[in-house]
Amino acid sequence: MSQSRRCPYCNSSFLPSAYRPQQSVCGRAECQRQRRSDYHRKKLATDPEYFQVVRDSQKQWWDEHPDYQKQHRQRNPKLVESNRLRQRQRDQKRRVELLVRNNLALDLKHSASEVWLMGPKVRDLDRNNLASAQVLILPSLGHSSEDRGPS
Ligand SMILES: [Zn+2]
Repeated sequence: MSQSRRCPYCNSSFLPSAYRPQQSVCGRAECQRQRRSDYHRKKLATDPEYFQVVRDSQKQWWDEHPDYQKQHRQRNPKLVESNRLRQRQRDQKRRVELLVRNNLALDLKHSASEVWLMGPKVRDLDRNNLASAQVLILPSLGHSSEDRGPS
């Protein structure tokens, strides 16, 4: 008889399969997907041979498809544009995080679970998935230059 266990990913309890008594992750597709990708990541980090095999097969694929990226971009001009946009947003987010680290580290510790976006660039930032980053920004109040970095 098997005892119920708790899935480390979704935190729900489950009964291990009769065929896999060692099962430590529940059967949900999402949890299994995470289990596999964690395994892959850990294996890459700890097993040089595995790492080499993965890298070789990726390299081989790219060697056999030298025009893939170029063609992919030509077929998907919108994708190129959206990648560019996303890169810009990442840069912006990095800048914001730097600001936050420099100015607001103390306050953030007390309110890590809340997000307040304020100031003239909020609309940009909002679109930029910053909500999940949980950042508090207070851009220069009463100053006209908006890019005044931390001094
Ligand atoms: Zn689960």
